[in-house]
Amino acid sequence: MPKNLFQWYATIHYSTCEACLRRHGDIFERDSDMPPLHKECRCHILEIDSSESEYYREKSERMREKALSELDRRRSWKEAVTLVATDFARSEELFRQTFQIDVYLEEIEQLCIAQQEWLAAHAEQRTGLSKLFVRAYRIKFNLDKYQTLAQGMRVTQEQHGIERIRKLFA
Ligand SMILES: [Zn+2]
Repeated sequence: MPKNLFQWYATIHYSTCEACLRRHGDIFERDSDMPPLHKECRCHILEIDSSESEYYREKSERMREKALSELDRRRSWKEAVTLVATDFARSEELFRQTFQIDVYLEEIEQLCIAQQEWLAAHAEQRTGLSKLFVRAYRIKFNLDKYQTLAQGMRVTQEQHGIERIRKLFA
């Protein structure tokens, strides 16, 4: 009788906790080996046939890379936010790097709160960031992970995001 295995799928998103991200792609032999899903966890478990385990183990490697790149993105984003007021050029460079992985409106909103006073006093840099994030948002939905979203939905979300960014930095 073929034995079943279990593969962990986390949601690659800025709000996913690190513990869940680090399990993305993990394969478990037994149901009982898996940590429990926490409250509001958006992970899910795929039951796989052990005869296909080679395919899923390879997939697991790619999943792990994606999860780790999200953790890298967070580190760079955080650093960029702290550098806005002290080393603007470097912060712009770091922000740009994070866009290869993803960009999140909620984090842009948090940035505006964290650097509120500085941004209010620096109109030129504020405009620069506005343009930078608008550009990032224009390419966000070209990322592979969003290709399952309907075209109309992508356009709507893109427009909503761009309007919000312009307002935040106005
Ligand atoms: Zn989770």
